[in-house]
Amino acid sequence: MSDKMTQIPFRNLIDWVLTEYKQSQTIYGIPEAKFFKKTNAQHIKLFGETMETPVGPAAGPHTQLAQNIVASYLSGSRFFELKSVQIMDELEFPKPCILAEDEAYNTEWSTELPIMGAFDEYVKAWFVLHVLEKELFKQSDRRFMFNMSVGYDLKGIQSPKVDEFVEGLKDASQTAIFKECKAVLSENLERFEQLDQAYVDAISPTICTSITLSTMHGCPPAEIEAIIKYLISEKKLHTFVKMNPTLLGYEYVRNTFDKMGYTYISLKEESFTHDLQFVDGVEMLKRLKAFALDHKKDFGVKMSNTLPVRITKSELPGEEMYMSGRALYPLTINLAYKLASEFKGDLKISYSGGADAFNIARIFETGIQPITVATTLLKPGAYQRFKQLADLLDPLMDSAESSKLDLNKLKALAESSFDDANHLKEKRDVINRKTELKLPVIDCFMAPCTVGCPIEQDVPEYLRLVGEKRYEEAFDVVVSKNPLPFITGTICTHNCMTKCTRLDYDESVHIRGQKLVAAEKGFAAYMQTIPALKPESSAKVAVIGAGPSGLAAAYFLAKAGMEVTVFDKREKAGGTVEYVIPDFRISREAIRNDIELIEKMGVKFEFGVNPNTSVEEYKTKGFQYVYLAIGAGKTNALNISGDTTRVMGAISFLEAFNADKESLKLGKSVAVVGGGNSAMDAARAALRVDGVETVYIVYRRTKDYMPADKEELHYAVEDGVIFKELLAPVSLTEGVLKCQTMELGQPDASGRRSPVAKVGAFEDLQVDTVLAAIGELIDYDLLKSNGIEIGDKGKILVNDVTLETSVSNVYIGGDALAGPWTVVGGIKHGTQVAKAILAKEKIEFSQEFASRISFDNDVQLLEIAEKKGVMQPVCDHEQESGRCLECNKVCNICAEVCPNRANLMIPVNGEGLTNLNQILHVDGMCNECGNCATFCPYTSEPYKVKLTLFWSEKDFKESANSGFLVVGDGNGSEVMLRLGEDVIKVKFDESGKADVRIDSSIAAFIWTVLKQYDYLYKI
Ligand SMILES: Cc1cc2nc3c(=O)[nH]c(=O)nc-3n(C[C@H](O)[C@H](O)[C@H](O)COP(=O)(O)OP(=O)(O)OC[C@H]3O[C@@H](n4cnc5c(N)ncnc54)[C@H](O)[C@@H]3O)c2cc1C
Ligand code: SF4
Ligand code: SF4
Ligand code: SF4
Repeated sequence: MSDKMTQIPFRNLIDWVLTEYKQSQTIYGIPEAKFFKKTNAQHIKLFGETMETPVGPAAGPHTQLAQNIVASYLSGSRFFELKSVQIMDELEFPKPCILAEDEAYNTEWSTELPIMGAFDEYVKAWFVLHVLEKELFKQSDRRFMFNMSVGYDLKGIQSPKVDEFVEGLKDASQTAIFKECKAVLSENLERFEQLDQAYVDAISPTICTSITLSTMHGCPPAEIEAIIKYLISEKKLHTFVKMNPTLLGYEYVRNTFDKMGYTYISLKEESFTHDLQFVDGVEMLKRLKAFALDHKKDFGVKMSNTLPVRITKSELPGEEMYMSGRALYPLTINLAYKLASEFKGDLKISYSGGADAFNIARIFETGIQPITVATTLLKPGAYQRFKQLADLLDPLMDSAESSKLDLNKLKALAESSFDDANHLKEKRDVINRKTELKLPVIDCFMAPCTVGCPIEQDVPEYLRLVGEKRYEEAFDVVVSKNPLPFITGTICTHNCMTKCTRLDYDESVHIRGQKLVAAEKGFAAYMQTIPALKPESSAKVAVIGAGPSGLAAAYFLAKAGMEVTVFDKREKAGGTVEYVIPDFRISREAIRNDIELIEKMGVKFEFGVNPNTSVEEYKTKGFQYVYLAIGAGKTNALNISGDTTRVMGAISFLEAFNADKESLKLGKSVAVVGGGNSAMDAARAALRVDGVETVYIVYRRTKDYMPADKEELHYAVEDGVIFKELLAPVSLTEGVLKCQTMELGQPDASGRRSPVAKVGAFEDLQVDTVLAAIGELIDYDLLKSNGIEIGDKGKILVNDVTLETSVSNVYIGGDALAGPWTVVGGIKHGTQVAKAILAKEKIEFSQEFASRISFDNDVQLLEIAEKKGVMQPVCDHEQESGRCLECNKVCNICAEVCPNRANLMIPVNGEGLTNLNQILHVDGMCNECGNCATFCPYTSEPYKVKLTLFWSEKDFKESANSGFLVVGDGNGSEVMLRLGEDVIKVKFDESGKADVRIDSSIAAFIWTVLKQYDYLYKI
């Protein structure tokens, strides 16, 4: 495996484009449906050149190779800022060099190719785009433009090497590559329908008339000015100069990040002090504007450059990286406004900084153009995202060259950027959406939401059913694994949503809400379909505890034909959900519906039983199996001195609240101690008690560290709960809660910064009642009295798979085993126990539903394809399910996000293969940027794991990837194959049969490539 990209000769590029398009109506993986097609005759002008839309890739990974530029063009780019070149063109960039999980970071600041290698790529792209413009869009006059980018100092830019590059792009007619491209097209005219010799001859050798100057951070202002003057007067180029966000000053940037939740971004103050200062920058721009006018050239600013930040957590190799993406937006748009104001709107701005489908039209409406993007293209959907951007801008074109900016609009946009939800950190507070699974070489598509769900709910399936209004079937799918659809549809902690692919588009699909839609609309009809179940065993099961975990176990056991009785010390089923969680969070009717389903399955209930459970007694009564699902109901006492009569456990309070709110007397002011979900519920409930005016949440760390769901925390804030961070209560005396002030110290073992007392610093709160929400405990006494063994640190000894305790046929699960946990966790344990008991009884356990539902495959595939690359805000109810990308059916994310098109989608018909297509990694096109690894839902990296096609023996030998090299006569019947550690030579006969025994799916995959994709290896 090599991180050096092999440049593809023009002849092969053209052959690839034509063959792939003919074969699969895609080009470099961009499907024809995602080709941008103009809807009107309007266009836009810049520097006298005409573009169909003013959008395109910023100088970066998406303009490094010809195929990248082609992929951008097809999906809607018409302005191409070519990747920067500079004199030091033999640099080794440490890899990986891109991390675009949320806001993006990179360490690759100019092309990795030698300068003239880059030149060749740009000329080849120029020709391919002309070909496509004519062949696909039947257009003869060019409607796109290339803009070159150079760095970083005057000496380098004046060097013969860089100068040859600049002059070559101004007039390429005498260069070898220009002549080669023309010759190849002329030789192949018969392969085209629209292209003729006259058109080829007319392709202009003037590739660029404009340039964007990129300067290093810290470049002296005089140097910047000198370079621009040189480019304008000597090189006669229209010029943009890149401005750095550091112009805003350290304080401004730091405060903006902190305000917007990007507290963790580590800035270097010296980057700001060493860079050009705002006042000097304005003066410089004024001089340069006048200079350009004198020389009859256009001049403007490119805003903005990336922001240098410290590498603190080994995000990428090295010490410094450059930030772009949604965190850069408020900085860039405000810098744009600030600078534009200095020029009363008379400033040409080329924009780049967090532009995406949600803001591009508003940016354009200020008069700013062109608008280039990079980060949004690194995310799933990638190049295909251009189509939405171009479609959004298309109706706004007015065939003019914008003159002045609309300062009012720009001001409004700049001001609103700080509150724009799409740019606040909290919009994506999921740190890592990868699952823990290892990536297989073939058949890898999976729904990360399903893997993320503790009970592996078939999310995409029920979402589609809801979308198609097939509610009863949706309900069927849900309850095949989850007997509490109403409860989980309302209060599940939704781990699934932390894995959703849409997090990398806009926001996770609101999966939980869709489950509730399925429940509300499918329940009644489904209940009519439940048949009377016949007993499959004479053994009886006693489930102790009618909370979520006991209910789940009982449901699956009864469904499979066992006799089950649920015993509870209370008077109703539902456990903590019924008795503790307040009714403003979940209606009692929702809980009742779930219980009704379980009852309908034949489960019996006995309430008000003796809480001193004796397993032996149950056994004596004829129950062969006992499941202890008794929750974790003991509360932790709050350790403070003084008047503890006004201290109450949050759980007891919530129970009392649910039983009879009116009788509660808490006084005017309440402090809730803790930061978990119980604390949020207690605080919100307290606010609803008569007489209560103020409720505090007192927590010893900051809000960011609170274990409560962010959603619940939000609701508490919305309700008016006052958060008192960094306080630890010490005593309660005469209505004063004395709290020790804390500060955040070094990270502890969990990675959280531990709270440290600030010596001598205290804060007093006037409170009437304190509610302690500092965790619930397992009742070990009851377990010990039943002979259940407890290990170190209170770990109850169970079989991890069956959850059977040290006492035979006695099981334990839910909160009773795990400590305070979740409803879905309880269901998971209940399911495990049911499965284990059924196995002992030799009764089949099934959660199958597939035989009962089917989809229209063609419609499904078409709809998925349409959604790729389209950002879409969360919508109401059933339509929300339409945002699901159905990752289990089609993933291809690694192919989408590879800037270099090095991961290809190859449909393979092979025995046992289940995916629509397989992923082939092409070693020669990969520079190990690491972007596919960021977005693949597995822990592993596609560029290291997927079956790899090698172009040379050297690359094959240097790599550890499983993959193959075509050998022999090169005509595709013989390969050198490595699978894991083993390297073998494989020869295929004409029917595709291998002469040695290899995995049949791998053989089918290789044979497909050899026979149908020769353009991939005859390079
Ligand atoms: C305030 C609060 C808010 C929460 N919010 C959420 C949320 O939003 N989402 C979420 O997923 N989870 C939430 N949880 C956690 C969730 O409620 C629990 O994880 C879940 O209810 C545990 O289910 P369980 O069946 O293990 O135990 P429980 O629900 O506690 O049920 C145990 C049952 O056993 C009975 N019992 C106990 N001892 C005996 C005995 N000796 N004999 C007979 N019966 C007995 C009890 O009466 C009870 O009915 C919250 C918890 C709390 C306290
Ligand atoms: S997009 Fe759909 S299938 Fe993919 S993770 Fe999200 S909910 Fe699941
Ligand atoms: S295959 Fe992956 S690592 Fe290689 S260039 Fe593409 S995205 Fe980067
Ligand atoms: S990103 Fe690529 S390798 Fe990973 S699961 Fe999707 S298709 Fe497979």
